[in-house]
Parts: sequence; C-alpha cells; structure tokens
Amino acid sequence: METMLANMIEEIMELKKSKDFVILAHNYQLPELQDIADHVGDSLQLATLATQLEKSRILFLGVDFMAETIKLLNPDKTVIVPDPEATCPLANSLTPEIVERYRNEFPGVPIVLYINSTLECKAFADVICTSANAVEIVARLDGQRVIFGPDKNLASYVAEKTGKDIIPIPGETGYCYVHENFKISSPLDARRSYPEAKIMVHPEVPKELRRLADYVGSTGQMLRYPAATDAREFVVGTEIGMLHRLRKTFPDRIFYPLDHAICSNMKLNTLEKVYRSLNEEVYEVTIDEEIARKAFKSVRKMFELMER
Ligand code: SF4
Repeated sequence: METMLANMIEEIMELKKSKDFVILAHNYQLPELQDIADHVGDSLQLATLATQLEKSRILFLGVDFMAETIKLLNPDKTVIVPDPEATCPLANSLTPEIVERYRNEFPGVPIVLYINSTLECKAFADVICTSANAVEIVARLDGQRVIFGPDKNLASYVAEKTGKDIIPIPGETGYCYVHENFKISSPLDARRSYPEAKIMVHPEVPKELRRLADYVGSTGQMLRYPAATDAREFVVGTEIGMLHRLRKTFPDRIFYPLDHAICSNMKLNTLEKVYRSLNEEVYEVTIDEEIARKAFKSVRKMFELMER
C-alpha cells in the first residue's frame, strides 16, 4: 500500500513537472495533498500568490469559490481542479437574489461579502473581506450600518469587534457546518485535559465558543499565533486539515483538535483525482467575463481599503 502511494506521488510529481503546473492547496486539504503542493495557504493568500507566479498553469486543491477567486485574479492563467463537485455550502447559502433584495430594502447601506461566497454574489457586493480582515474592512467603511454575509457567526464577531450595526444575510441559514457543529462542552473538556494549552478558534465558530477560547483568528492568523506566545500546547478549533499545517510549521509545539471537525467538501480531493486531473488536464475553471468584471471591483475595493 505504501509503495503504491509512493509511486502515485512520484507520478504526480513527474506529471506536474512535465506539464509545467504549479499546485496550490488550501490549509484544509488532506495532509498528503498539502505535502505535494508547492504552496499551502488560505484562499486569498493563494489567489494573490498566484498573481506573482511565473507558471501559467495552476492545479488548485480546495473548493469551487476559491478556484473561481484564483481565476478572477489570474484571468490569463489556466486553473484546473481535481473534483468540480467540491463546493462550499456556506458560500452556496447566499444567492444574488437575496443580496439584491437587501440592497433594495436598505438603500445606501454597504454590502460586505465574505470571500466564501459565489462569484455571482461577489458581483453584487460593494466590498469583499476575508476572515483575517473582516473587522478592519467593516471598521473602515463610512456609516454605522453594514449588510454582511453569508456567515452569521463571522457577522456577529465583526459586530462585537467594530460596534457597528450588522445586518446578516442570509441570516440564520448562513453558517459553515464544520465550525457551527463544534460542541460547546469541548473547550471545557480541553481545559481539563490540557490545562497548559491555549485554545484557538476560527471566527466562523458560534459566539458561545469564541468566548471560551484564548484566541480567535483566521487560519493565517492561527499560523502566526504560536510564535507570538510562550505556550507549548494548543487546542485548535477549526477544520482538522489545519493541524497538519500547524504541526509542520511548529514541530516543537503540540497541537490537539478541539473536535475532529471535517469538511467533507474539502476532502473530496484525493491523490487519485489529482493524478487524473494532471494527466487529463481536467477540470478547467471558467468564469463569466461580465460577472468577473463586477466581482473584481468588489475584490479591488478590499485591497484599497486595506491600504488606507
Ligand atoms: S470548511 Fe466550511 S467554509 Fe470552508 S469550504 Fe468547508 S463548508 Fe465551506
């Protein structure tokens, strides 16, 4: 079994080289996929990094809205994904019709959409944000009221941190099932089992859990947190793939999962599918030009606000 795996990895590496592809993988991908990737990161990090790469062919390992963001920022590059079914239920919980309805209901109120949204919704937004910069983006907007979606937990975190009146869209149905389903008893259990450990959670977890944590941050921020504290042990409240990334980055620290939280959509990508994808050069990501033009404006606005 191990020899078969090693052979497959070798073949993937050969294909990648001969076909001149670069592999980008999200932090939540399977450990073996993170290990064959040239770069691992969060969705925006990978999309912006792709703009600096010389290679014009990208194999992306993550879910569809991330692949679309890479294509949006790199329209001249070829982007392929191993499984076109790998999607994000959180992103899909919001539709352009809902965004438009709120736009009409609250004229003049800015619409901020999390990067975990479809390209069609991004085209209707005023500005995009990530879990790392959502608080700063909303704080830098004029006015007290902001329409924010689709993650209701990130929306409540932003409301807490900025003191602004956040109108969440689509509301109660907008959440990431992976983060929503952490058990409220888990941080208390973790404190008992690992009394020296710091507990870090993603802002997509519910408010009750955030309050029991030592640190709230995006995956990128979680990767910086261990270096900023003297703690040797950490309990990690996000998708299980992040543990691999943290353990590789900080081999001298110990990381425990808060719960065994798995995103089954992220895990649709496998080594076998990566092999096929490179071999047959499928599945290519394409985006509608008109939608891309509008969505690009809202992404550009995020970069402008972050430069202020
Ligand atoms: S972890 Fe949550 S937000 Fe990320 S892709 Fe899976 S369902 Fe979507």
